Amino acid sequence: MKLSNRVLQMEESVTLAANARAKELMAQGKDILSLTLGEPDFPTPENIRQAAIEAIRDGKASFYTVTSGLPELKAAIVNYFANYYGYGIESNQVLVATGAKFCLYSFFMSVIDPGDEVLIPTPYWVSYADQIKMAEGRPVFVEGKEENQFKVTVDQLEAARTAKTKVLVLNTPSNPTGMIYTAEELLAIGNWAVAQDILILADDIYGRLVYNGHEFTPISSLSEAIRKQTLVINGVSKTYSMTGWRIGYAVGEPELIQAMSKVAGQTTSNPTTAAQYAAIEALTGSQEPFETMRQAFEERLNTIYPLLAEVPGFEVVKPQGAFYLFPNVEKAMAIKGYTDVTAFTQAILEEVGLALVTGAGFGAPKNVRLSYATDMASLKEAIKRLQKFMKD
Ligand code: PMP
Ligand code: GLU
Repeated sequence: MKLSNRVLQMEESVTLAANARAKELMAQGKDILSLTLGEPDFPTPENIRQAAIEAIRDGKASFYTVTSGLPELKAAIVNYFANYYGYGIESNQVLVATGAKFCLYSFFMSVIDPGDEVLIPTPYWVSYADQIKMAEGRPVFVEGKEENQFKVTVDQLEAARTAKTKVLVLNTPSNPTGMIYTAEELLAIGNWAVAQDILILADDIYGRLVYNGHEFTPISSLSEAIRKQTLVINGVSKTYSMTGWRIGYAVGEPELIQAMSKVAGQTTSNPTTAAQYAAIEALTGSQEPFETMRQAFEERLNTIYPLLAEVPGFEVVKPQGAFYLFPNVEKAMAIKGYTDVTAFTQAILEEVGLALVTGAGFGAPKNVRLSYATDMASLKEAIKRLQKFMKD
């Protein structure tokens, strides 16, 4: 079969591929521990599951909804923005879609023309670059230096800007580094984007998963001008342990939201109706289950970070949010005789049965990613396996 050039030049998502490989080995009966996926290990809170069950039982979940989402869910998002972003929005500024991932896809399809450039600070979450390529745009990587907590500066962005630069991707707290831009850094970046007429794609999906007193400031909350220049991406997957429900949302200027809704209407029609009812409960119901999960992540981070830092050759900056550790393993690779991080990650999997994600897919060829969205016993066992791998 002759497949399209578009799909042939696409990479498989390395996070999903690493998880699939680990599951395959487990199914063969191998003793594999997987820290691959950024997916909370808690079941979705009971009140949220009940809301979906009721919607199904009452027959409300049987039908299509408007493409951009149930009016009640959009109202819940408007209210959520008043509470967590501190500014008012109208419901015509909201698109609910099949996961934050599909919101991102609709955004790139709506604003990118062939050859348009998108600035992506590295390390970056795996799907941005391929989605941009699907829209025939060109990802332009700007290195977030480790000594600057993997964050980029306005000077670096300005140096990468050309007449074709259309969008800047900003993901804070970051997947995979867990670092958070300060309000001051964001204001400088936001003002630069406004002055240069560059759209900001603010992927805030980890905004509430912050630890040890660190705070998240949404770039869109900093000024009216920045807000008009920004499309916010968020969703319920990470905050409420709802990865399987596939509900994300985008908030921005009505014209852009309308364009993105057109993409969604021609591809998915609407996000699953029962899942939308669950999301209403997630956003409007008790936030206690969320806080319990957040505290569990914080405890895991505080336990596992010092243990990881003791593994020979693993150098790690302590993350401030999200649920990933992203150690630099350059020295560990040298100790074990590897020069390629993907081969190094593969060797860890084969020799001690620990599945991690190679930094290569995140534009970071000296790092590996561990997700600590898993139970404490598995995390401690993972460190033991890493120690064993480095010793043998
Ligand atoms: N953005 C980032 C940075 C992510 O890590 C994820 C996780 N998959 C997403 C977007 C997409 O989230 P979802 O589609 O599950 O809502
Ligand atoms: N975002 C999560 C991760 O990075 C889920 C997998 C994916 O969508 O890539 O692991």
